[in-house]
Parts: sequence; structure tokens; C-alpha cells
Amino acid sequence: MKASKPAITNPPIHLTARGAARVKGGHVWVYRSDIKEPKQKLEPGALVAVLDEKGRILGDALYSTASLIAIRMFASSREETLASDLAEIVGNRVAAAIAYRDEIVQQSEACRLVFSEADFLPGLIVDRYEDIITMQVLTQAMDRPDLRDAVLQSLREHFPSATVYERVDERIRELEHLPPKASGVVAKPQKGNAKTATIFNINNLRFHYDVASGQKTGAFLDQRDNYAAAAQYARGDALDVFTYQGGFALHLYQNCRRVTGVDSSRQALEVAEDNAGLNGYNVDWVEANAFDYLKDQSTSGRMYDTIVLDPPAFAKTRKNFDTAIRGYKELNLRALKMLRAGGTLITCSCSFHVSEAEFLEMLTAATADARRRVRVLEKRNAAKDHPVLLGVPETNYLKCIIARVE
Ligand code: SAH
Repeated sequence: MKASKPAITNPPIHLTARGAARVKGGHVWVYRSDIKEPKQKLEPGALVAVLDEKGRILGDALYSTASLIAIRMFASSREETLASDLAEIVGNRVAAAIAYRDEIVQQSEACRLVFSEADFLPGLIVDRYEDIITMQVLTQAMDRPDLRDAVLQSLREHFPSATVYERVDERIRELEHLPPKASGVVAKPQKGNAKTATIFNINNLRFHYDVASGQKTGAFLDQRDNYAAAAQYARGDALDVFTYQGGFALHLYQNCRRVTGVDSSRQALEVAEDNAGLNGYNVDWVEANAFDYLKDQSTSGRMYDTIVLDPPAFAKTRKNFDTAIRGYKELNLRALKMLRAGGTLITCSCSFHVSEAEFLEMLTAATADARRRVRVLEKRNAAKDHPVLLGVPETNYLKCIIARVE
């Protein structure tokens, strides 16, 4: 006798064998090419039942009618998530994500509160900067009015005096076939007016944040713990390459004689200078292309005791891998040559497509070319408020190697 299949109420999505293998391996995304075309017309962002190629239930997911990523798993249990419970579950997951940050984030008024898949809320990113909270909605599901309300309500309960500001990425809305929308305030504080600029404290340093300014990205919160680690080893003359708004530079300053921060963006450096002022620090800011600057400095024989390299992601796709490695190697080679004996290199990569092993291999080659002996002191990743979800390698993207040069 054949066992009767459990009844399901959510519309079913049947996966191909490849799609099912991916979900069983722990990944939460399934591409459209790995699902069978649904028989019924589905609403954008619908909650669907996910079935393997043999019709066995794998769990529930949120569906997109437009994205290449057709479904993102929401629950991997055989027990069905009821559509009528979805908003409440989303609200509870936001609360759980906040409770986790309360537990692990110390001495900081800024952190990532919700990191999408890694907090079981695919398509939602929420960051906190003192009492400004920014929210990014990346999928049709998270843009559903009932789910947006659940998220906002949970945020409001935990942060009654915060302003919630939605940062809209127009390109993502287009890809998800969502109507265009402007960035702006989506929830005001319970008392007083909405606020779009503030000063936040991390690791006992102060930084400006202006959500409505031209600078789209906020701070690089994933580097928060790496800033503190870098500061511990920093000595003497320090150089922070790709400084943005001075994150590493200001941390290094605490233990260095002199700090220079380099970036090609004047706008970022203006904020960096304001940030230095807030802390009473005197950093030299240089607007330059990092590759040219390092070349000029090394040709002129300039030496440093501490160098930070934190470039933007060079490998946006796996296709860029070789070019990316060449870029990383050039930067690291030049930096290694310019470090005095006993000096420290803090070198980062936020390219998901370059693994830690590949990054270390590049660094080894650069070390050999520079004819230096280098010891790795720490292999670090993103701060704990950016957890890595096993099975979803995309959540493990940031590498920060701290090394000492002989
Ligand atoms: N270290 C920073 C984050 C760096 S983000 C922090 O912790 O906050 C990458 C930075 O590199 C951006 O500020 C960008 O303006 C800068 N950048 C990109 N290409 C560059 C180049 N070729 N030369 C110098 N800066 C560059």
C-alpha cells in the first residue's frame, strides 16, 4: 500500500532533481531553471510548498515571479507553514534577530540587525545606526504589505525612538518587477520627529551617518570587529588604503604616530575628515587611485609599520576571478614591500568568488615575489552580526588576514 501524501494547502512548486539536491544540501535559493513551471498562476511573493522530484515535501518557500532565484526557502520542515501565520512568523524572526544582536554586540550603537538568509528572512537587510534604522527590501515577498508591516511593527517595538528609513535599490526593484519607489522614511519615532542624520559610536569611536546623503552605502559594519583587531596590532606610521569614511584609519590612530587614509572618492574623504574631527584626531587624507598611490609611494622608498588594504569586491562574478587575483596581488605585493621589519599587514577581500584559501594562495605568491617572510597572526571574517549560514556559501564572503612581516 502506498503511504498517503500529507495534505498541503500552499500552492506546490516541484523541483528538478538538481534543485532538490541543492535544497537538501542546505542552500535556500533555487533558480528558475531548477523548478518545474507551476501549474497555477502564483502571486508575487507567494508562500509555496516545495516538493522534490518525487513529490516529497522539503518545506516552504517564498516565490518570486520575476527573479532568476525563483524560490527562497523559508522553512525546511515537513510541517507546513500556514499562509495565515506568515506575517507573525516574520515579525518573530525579526525579534529573534534583534535579540541575537543584543547578546553579541557590545560597545556599539551600530550593527546589522537582520542579515537576510542568515537570519532566516531572505530578502531583508536591516542595519541600525544609533536611532536610525535602515531597511532594504530585496524580494517581492519582503515587499508584500503584510510582511513589511510585520517587520516595521517588530522594529518599532524594540526601538520606539528610532526612525526607520527604507533604502531603495532601483535596479533590484526592476529585477523583481516591483514598481519604482523612492528611498525615504517609512516609520517615525513614537515621540518627536523623524531623523535622517546622526552620530553613532562603535568601539568607543564616533562616526557620522547621514542616510539621505549622496553616499549610498552606510558604514561597512561587517568590519567592526576587524577594526578593533587591527587597532591592537597597529604601530608607528600607518596607511589605510581604500579608507572610505575612515573606518580603519580612525581605529589605527589610537596606537599610531601618523595615519594616512587613501580613497578615490572625495565625498567619502569629506565624511572621513568630519569623523576624524568628531574624535579629535588628525589623519592625513589623500584622494588618489590606490594602485597609482601605492606605486608612487613604493618607488619613492616610503616605508610604513602598518598597512590596511580593504578594496571593493574585485570579483563580482567568478568570470572576473583572474583579473581580481591580479588586482589583489598587485596591491598586496606593493604593501608587503613597503612594510618595515616587524610591520603588520591587514588585508581584506569582500569578494565571495575568491575563497579564503584562494586569497591566502594569492598572498603567498605576493610574499614570495616581495621576498619577505610573513606570518599570519589572524584569519578573520565578518563581525558576528553578519553570521554565516551553513549551506549558503554566499553568506561567507569577507576575509581579513592580519599578518606580520619579518
Ligand atoms: N575600508 C572601508 C571600506 C572600503 S569600501 C571601511 O572600513 O569603511 C571600498 C572603498 O574603495 C570605497 O570607499 C571606494 O571609494 C574606494 N575605491 C574604489 N576603487 C578605488 C581605487 N581604485 N582607488 C582608491 N579607492 C578606491
